[in-house]
Formats: sequence, structure tokens, C-alpha cells
Amino acid sequence: MCGIVGYIGDKEASDVIIKGLKRLEYRGYDSAGIAIINGELHIKKGKGKVKNLESMIRGVASSHIGIGHTRWATHGEPNDINSHPHVSQSGKLALVHNGIIENYTSLKKKLESQGYTFYSETDTEIIAKLIESFLEKNPDDLRKSVQLALLQVTGTYGLAIIHSDFPDEIIVARKGSPLLLGVGENEMLIASDASAVAEYTDKVVYLDDGEIAVIRKSDYTVQSADEVELTKEVHELALSLEEIEKGGYDHFMMKEIFEQPRAISDCLRGRLNVEEGEITLGGIDKVMDQLINANRVVIAACGTSWHSGLVGEYLFESLAKMPVEVEYASEFRYKEQLIGEGDVMIVISQSGETADTLAALREARERGALVLGVVNVVGSTIARETDGGVYIHAGPEIGVASTKAFTAQVTVLALIAIKVAQMRGKLDKERSKALIKELSHIPQKIQEILDQSDKIKNIADLFTYAPNFLYLGRSYSFPVALEGALKLKEISYAHAEGYPAAEMKHGPIALIDDMMPVVVIAATQHTNDKMVSNIEEVRARKGRIIAITTPGNEEVAELAEFTLTVPETMDELSPLLTVIPLQLLSYYIAVNRGCNVDQPRNLAKSVTVE
Ligand code: GLU
Repeated sequence: MCGIVGYIGDKEASDVIIKGLKRLEYRGYDSAGIAIINGELHIKKGKGKVKNLESMIRGVASSHIGIGHTRWATHGEPNDINSHPHVSQSGKLALVHNGIIENYTSLKKKLESQGYTFYSETDTEIIAKLIESFLEKNPDDLRKSVQLALLQVTGTYGLAIIHSDFPDEIIVARKGSPLLLGVGENEMLIASDASAVAEYTDKVVYLDDGEIAVIRKSDYTVQSADEVELTKEVHELALSLEEIEKGGYDHFMMKEIFEQPRAISDCLRGRLNVEEGEITLGGIDKVMDQLINANRVVIAACGTSWHSGLVGEYLFESLAKMPVEVEYASEFRYKEQLIGEGDVMIVISQSGETADTLAALREARERGALVLGVVNVVGSTIARETDGGVYIHAGPEIGVASTKAFTAQVTVLALIAIKVAQMRGKLDKERSKALIKELSHIPQKIQEILDQSDKIKNIADLFTYAPNFLYLGRSYSFPVALEGALKLKEISYAHAEGYPAAEMKHGPIALIDDMMPVVVIAATQHTNDKMVSNIEEVRARKGRIIAITTPGNEEVAELAEFTLTVPETMDELSPLLTVIPLQLLSYYIAVNRGCNVDQPRNLAKSVTVE
């Protein structure tokens, strides 16, 4: 969470930083702040969005060096005082931070005993004071002071630091929170993710954990935690501005929902041979033997990625006949660790920076498991730390509520499951060819659903102010029910629960009355009869049924009050279609309710704190 931007070069630093913060705002929007140097430090910060900051900084001072922050609060409420940047006692050093300092209470006590005072409730402020305490002993070396201070810190951080006595350098440090350097012509940028630098350069250097860098206008040096100078690889960014702008849509979420046919085509590109019924996955080729012979497969993820992981479980088990466990990454870490050599963990993360998922990955690796990633952001920490993986290639996802990443993750999991099934000899040629052919038709079928968005909007208009929703599905549609309910909760703040349709009888059925919208996902053939019975049960309690089904399913259509159809497909691939109307339903309801769809309250896009 939280976005960090820094700039040093010939341009007006505050302009570059404000622009960058706007691009990173999806990472957190509790407060925003900026620090620049013009002889002395100038700081402007406050609760709320980057837009407020823009007017605050206008005309303050001209500067060619600065750092900025958009916050997702962990320690201390979102208010002006707790906003970043935070400053040292002398008022000469300013820093911005992404992460959590776990031992901040003990460090604070120690610093207080040395005469330091504190103005905020944040964990971050102690770092500013701590660095200053080391700078007193090393007055000529800001980098060294940062390095010594960080030796005392436990927790996670992405940090950017400036000091008015060192007006030509920014110090950055990383442990557990993403940071990259943008290398320009006579200018350098730093940012939490590439979208903030893409406008200025296509050359980036990803910092790794423990590294500290000194950034100057025309050069930079990177050192490891034990002060060894490193030569870092410079990566070429393949990110166009178009991809990170709204392109005529009212919201990023809508743009991303409508991008799904393209995103899935990109995800499939070069990976399918429809004629031969073959799949190519270069990123896991070399580990295929280990994967197909694994003792155990564990999928670890959070949020929407966890839901796609659940689809992955159904796919692996039914196609490849391999038992799979799906774990919340945050829970996996604190369970008895039974994973080890011969096991495989597949981690799923859109950003590739999700802190809990990264921690689960490291734990599994340490214990000898093979770790594979299903990630969107190329070059992200998870992508770099896994033994192999398959990028989902969905393009930047900026709306906080994940949409195209879900369908692209499911697509990749289907590709892996089919390939594993083929190699294990569990899938006959005909069925595997049929699945591969059907995958190639998915983008067109998604487009057909998007073309009926008006119909979905009409239903959303009727249920805009319903306070509770129930989503039901069986088999492949159960994770879709969970995902549909999550989408609605996160952007419209309506309460929604996803349930396996038959489980409804064990509790949630008590909630159903003639006011309750019940969204039933009844688009898989092998569970149709059972779903019909569940729909009858809802009807008997006068629940208002919104059915997602296929065009020929008269049985379901007759029972439902409202019916939305998705094109026929194979059961295994049905989540790729059935989730689309649910994404649109939640989008329209949220817009009708006047909610900020792209920046829902209390949330942030990539959860880089545990
Ligand atoms: N822990 C810091 C704070 O609460 C940084 C949070 C973040 O990473 O956004 O301000």
C-alpha cells in the first residue's frame, strides 16, 4: 500500500511528483504529501486526495529535487499530522515510507530518552529521528546514517529520504515494500511502481530487499545491506501511457471490465496451438517434471486472487487429478508448516507485491518447495522470487476492485491445469483439444456478454438500495459466487455473501425473505439439476432470484425473476463468463449509490503490508 514518488533533475520536481502520485493514488488515498528542497525543506501535506495537495504546493518554491507520498494508513488515523513526509527534529530531513516498522515503540522510547520528541502517531516518524541521531555522528554521510539506522529497524519499508544539507541526492532503501528507480537523461525518478515513471523513461532498476541506493541527477549507486556496491540490471519497461489512462471511460474499473476480451487474448497469445491441441508455457517448462510429480500442490493467494485459486483447485483436481489445497496466504504462514521438498506452491498476485503472498512464497521456498507465480506485473518481487511462473499479461490494472486480473488468472490456471493433465496422461486428446479450442473462443464470448451491459444495468437499477445480497453457485460457480459478492461489498458497501448453493440450507437461508436479492450462478451442466432444486428453495422463501445461466436453460429462466445469459461453454471454463455480469452488476450498483468505484473507502490496490 501507499505510493512513493521521488524526482531529481532539471524539471520542476513538484510537477513530476504530483503527476506520479496521481498515477499511484490507487495504492492508497488517506492522505498525500510532498517535500522539496529549495535552500531549505518545504513540506506540504494533508488528509485526502492528491488533488488537494496540488493546490497546496502551487507557488510554494521552485525545486529540482523532491519526494511525495500517498498514504494507506496502518499506524495512526488518516489526518494531516500523520500524513507523510515525516521530518526529523532539526526539520532538515524528510522521508516517505511504505510498510510497517514493527519495533517502533521500543525505538521511540530509546529516542525519547535521548531527547527526541514526536508529533505523530505513525511508526514512520521514528525513522526520521533515528537517521538524524546517526547523522549527528556522521555529519557528511547521509547514506551511511540511513544504513546504520536501518540496522536497528525490524519490519518492512520502502523509503525515500531527502535532507536540505544534501540537496543533490535522494536516498532510497527497500525491505519488503516495492521500489524502483527510473533512469532518465539527466534526471532520475523513484517510485513504488512503474506507472509513475513511464512518462519519463523506459529504463528501470528494481531494488531488492536490503538494498540502499543514492540517487543523483545523472547517476546512482546501489549497495547491499553490508555495503557491497552492486551492478544492477537495467530493465526495459513495456508500458504505454494509454494503458494507464482511462481512455474515455468514467472509471478504470469499467475500462478494465471492457478490456477483458483483449486481456484474455493477450494472455493466450503464443500459448495455444488449437490445431494440435498443445499449450506452450515457457516460464514453467523447466520445472514441469517437478510439477507433474508433485506430492502436494498448494495455491496461496489473497482476495480476488484467492478466488481464482479456488477455480484453479477445481481445474487441477478434475483435469489433472491432482489434489490441491487453496490457502489464504496470510493464514498459511501461521499454520504448522508441512510443506517441503517435493511439494509445489503456486502463488497468485496481480501486483506481484502482495505482502502476505510474498511471505508465504518465501516460507515455502525456504522449506524446499518449488514455488511458481501467476502474476500480472512483470518484474515484480513475486515474479522475481519464484522458481518459474506464467504472467497473466492483463495489462496494468488500476481500479482497486480486480476484474480483468481475475479472468486472466483463471485463464492461466486453466492453461497450467490442462498442460499438467496432458503430461500426466489424465486428459484424452479429444477433450484436451476441445478445451483448448474453447479457450480460444472465450474472448469473443466475453464480448457478447459485455454487449448486453444495458440489460445488466436495468437489473442494477432495481436493486441499487438493497442492503443485503446472497450469491450462490456450485462447483466452478462457487468461487464465482464468492467473487461476485466480494465485488459488490468492496465498491458499493452493500453487504453480500457468497455461498456454495447447497450450504445455504445450513444457515443463510434464514436471511431470505421477499426483499432479498439472490444471485444464482447456474451455468454449469453437471450441477444444473441440483441448482434448480436450490433455486426452488429460494423461491419458496420468496427470495428475488437473479439467475446467471445459458440461453437454452428454460428451467432456470422460468424459476428466476430476472435472467442474464452467458454463452454456452465447457463447465471448466464457465467462470470466465459467469463472472462478467457480476462485475457489471456491482459496478452499476456502486455508481448508482454514488460510490467512488475506483477508490473505495478503506481499501488500496496492492496490499504491501501484512
Ligand atoms: N506505516 C506507515 C503509516 O501508517 C506507512 C503505511 C503505508 O505503507 O501506506 O503511515
